[in-house]
Amino acid sequence: MHRRALLGGLILAPAVSAAFAQTPEQDPIGFRPDPDQLARAMTLLQRHGSVDTHAHPGRTFARSLAAEAASGEAVAFEARAIADMRAGHVAAASFAAVSDAAVLKPTAAGMGVARDYAPGEALALFRRQIADLHRVARINGLPIIRTPEDLDRCSGGSAPGMIVTVEGGDFLSGDPAGLAAARDRDDVRIITVVHYRPNELADNQTSPARFGGLSPAGLAVVREMARLGLVIDMAHAAEPAVRQAMVAAQGPILCSHTHVKTATLDHPRFITVDTARAIAAEGGVVGSWPSGFGGTTLRDFVDRIFILTEAVGPEHVALGTDMDANYRPTLSSYRQLPLLVSELLRRGYGEDNVMALAGGNFRRLFRTNWAARKA
Ligand SMILES: [Zn+2]
Ligand SMILES: [Zn+2]
Repeated sequence: MHRRALLGGLILAPAVSAAFAQTPEQDPIGFRPDPDQLARAMTLLQRHGSVDTHAHPGRTFARSLAAEAASGEAVAFEARAIADMRAGHVAAASFAAVSDAAVLKPTAAGMGVARDYAPGEALALFRRQIADLHRVARINGLPIIRTPEDLDRCSGGSAPGMIVTVEGGDFLSGDPAGLAAARDRDDVRIITVVHYRPNELADNQTSPARFGGLSPAGLAVVREMARLGLVIDMAHAAEPAVRQAMVAAQGPILCSHTHVKTATLDHPRFITVDTARAIAAEGGVVGSWPSGFGGTTLRDFVDRIFILTEAVGPEHVALGTDMDANYRPTLSSYRQLPLLVSELLRRGYGEDNVMALAGGNFRRLFRTNWAARKA
C-alpha cells in the first residue's frame, strides 16, 4: 500500500497542472486523479475533442451589455476562455448570446425580470451580441460552425469551433420571420426558446405558467426552427412546453443544460425523469449541467452524469457546461475536462460512452436536424 500526495508522482500536462493549481479553494475536485486514466483521457480528447452544447465562453454577452449600460461589470476574458478550451481539447462549443440579458435581475430563487423590453430593444441587443460573438471568432481564429461537416472538421487538436447560440427567443418578439436571418446572416444554429424572462413563446421553469406550454407564436417558432434545420433547445422551458415542442418539431430536440429530479435532489431548473426519457425516445439529447445546485465538486458532477445517463441512456447525454455564466459551477474551466473524462473512465463509463457524451451525441443531433431542413 502506498500513498502519494495529490500531485506527487503524477506526470501531468501543463494544462492539467494548471487546473489543479487553481482548484483548492475555488472549485475542489473531490477525487484523486488516476494518472493512467488521465493519460487515456488526454489521448481520447486530443483525437476527438469535446463539444459543449451550451456555454458562454468568455461571457461575451456581458461585455455587449456593458457597452449599453456602462456597468463596468463586464470583463473581456474571451482570450483566457479560448486558451482554456485549447488546453482542454474542446473541438467546438456553443457561444451563447443571452436574449433577455438586459432585463434580468438576480432574485432569491435565481433570476427574475426587472422590467420589460422597449419595442425593438431585444432585437437591437441581439444584433450587438451577435456582432460581438463574430468579432470574437475573427480575432481568435475560431471557425464558425455552419454545417455538420464544419463540426466534423473540428477535433481536439484544432482551433475550437464556435456554434453561435441564442439563449432566449426574445429577440423574435413572437415572430418566426426573424429566424431565417438569424440562421443565414448571423449563423445562429442553436436557439434556447425561452430563458428566465417569460417571453412571447413559452412558459419557463421559473415563472408562473401563462400558456400551458408553448404559445401559438412559440409553436410557430418551433416549427420554423425545424424547417430551417436549427437545433431546438428546450432548456429552461416548462415541461409541457418541452413536450409540445417535441411534437411540433417532429424530430429530436436538445435540452442543453439541466439535470433530472431525483428523490434526494430537486430544483426548478431540473426536469423529471419522464420528460428526460421522452426527449431520449425521440432521439434527442439532454445536456448534463455542472451547476452548484446540489453539488460542490467535480466529483459531484461525475455522479450527476451517471444518474442522468442511467435515466436516458448513453446515446442521449451531452455536456452543457454553461461555462462562465453558471451558478457555482462544479466544472469551472475547460482545463478540467481531461480530469472529468479520466474519472468517468475510472468509474467504468466506457470509452465509447465517454465520446458519445463528450460530443458524439450532439454531432448526431445536429446532423439529423440539419439534414431535415426544408429551406
Ligand atoms: Zn441557462
Ligand atoms: Zn446559459
